[in-house]
Amino acid sequence: MRQRQPQLIQRLDLDDPDWQQLCQTLRRSTTLAAIVLSAWQMGLWMANRIVEQDLTERAQAMPQWSSCPVCNTPLVSKGFVHRQMLTLVGQVKWKRRVGRCPHRCLGSQSVPLDHLLEIHPYQQTSSELRRLGCLLAVFLPFELTAWMLQQLSGIQVSNDTIWNWVQAAGQQALENLKWQLQQLGEGQSIQAESLDETLLTMPLIIAADGVTVPFRPQPKTAKGRIVWREVKIALLARVGKCQTKTGTTVTRLHQRRLVANLGDIDHLKPYLQLEALRQGITTAAQVVWISDGARGFWRLYRECFATCAVGILDFYHAAQHLWQAASAYQDGNPARTPQQWFASLRHRLRYGYGKGIIKEFNWLSKSKNTSEVTKQILRQVRDYLKVHLDHIQYRTFKKQGLPIGSGMVESACKWLIHQRFKGTGMRWSEDGFNHLLHLRLAWVNGRFDPLFADESLELKLYSPNR
Ligand SMILES: [Zn+2]
Repeated sequence: MRQRQPQLIQRLDLDDPDWQQLCQTLRRSTTLAAIVLSAWQMGLWMANRIVEQDLTERAQAMPQWSSCPVCNTPLVSKGFVHRQMLTLVGQVKWKRRVGRCPHRCLGSQSVPLDHLLEIHPYQQTSSELRRLGCLLAVFLPFELTAWMLQQLSGIQVSNDTIWNWVQAAGQQALENLKWQLQQLGEGQSIQAESLDETLLTMPLIIAADGVTVPFRPQPKTAKGRIVWREVKIALLARVGKCQTKTGTTVTRLHQRRLVANLGDIDHLKPYLQLEALRQGITTAAQVVWISDGARGFWRLYRECFATCAVGILDFYHAAQHLWQAASAYQDGNPARTPQQWFASLRHRLRYGYGKGIIKEFNWLSKSKNTSEVTKQILRQVRDYLKVHLDHIQYRTFKKQGLPIGSGMVESACKWLIHQRFKGTGMRWSEDGFNHLLHLRLAWVNGRFDPLFADESLELKLYSPNR
């Protein structure tokens, strides 16, 4: 290998007119920026030639021909056949041996070098370039992605090409998930992600929320009124405590994982259960469920997590209900405004006096001084607190270092959905949305790179700013 490298460089044709042109441009460059850009392009030219040379060299090796899948006769070479591919260093061309059955059986064609290079028969773009395009598309609209890719790599592709890459990678992410769900359905055990010792001792928190996304009313056209559809999102994380500079203890999330899909809570359920297993729900020291008052989520909690998890009702949500009661109740006491009563109720709720609040509402809702309309509101809020009595023990939760607000899943919604799917004029098709959603999920969950190759495609070997 060591001896091959200098030969490779020596064999580069430096009389090539493109190279001569690049050399001239470099000589004519006057500013540092212009010199750097010229040199960078020379580097690209060279990388392109190195790849072509290397592939041509590899193609010389005599392959072990397999047998015809139809008639089992050993394949024979039909000679060298041209191949090209768009890569991060531009369009590369090479020739490699193609074999086929001497009886010309249909589907007997075999290209051993393509197989070794892990490229598919109709593949036109290599994985490192598709990965880069998809990575940009996780954050940017497709047309900006195409523009940005051109700025960064010089490679020009259309918005549609980017869109196609995203569809393919997103589809792969979806299929991976479905395959795992199938495994789970067949009773196979799901491997939990490996966590270090400190994370293992932290509580596993599961929080869920919903958000709407604008969809096209008809497939293939952006015309007509927007249809808003619900996306359900769940966040799973290990929650730890850490000290700030001022000495206050704050909770911090580790190993953040998101689950999301289009549709109702029942659609989300199997995906959430799968992720919970991957995050070690069966071995976690403590499991915590947190969500706002939406009924469906608490049903999900009862069905899936009530036996192993502590349920927490989002504090701010619970406080909103107290405000409903406080603003409805006019007790004729000018010394106490609804705001003041609310502040006191909220304080009592926060410090674990939920039962007392229920009692008070109960009493007030029976008092003859309370109007009928107010009675109804007080009863509603009382019943709501009663149902969630176990889930509003905020004093205890705080003591245990658990969060009492579902803000973390709300910010996940903002990142996952609002930032990329709710831009001006955006309307999604079901497939288009699902594929990009699952690509974004793969990225945020640290499962992005395996969608493109088994090996890492990051530029790790050589870092130019070292
Ligand atoms: Zn054959």
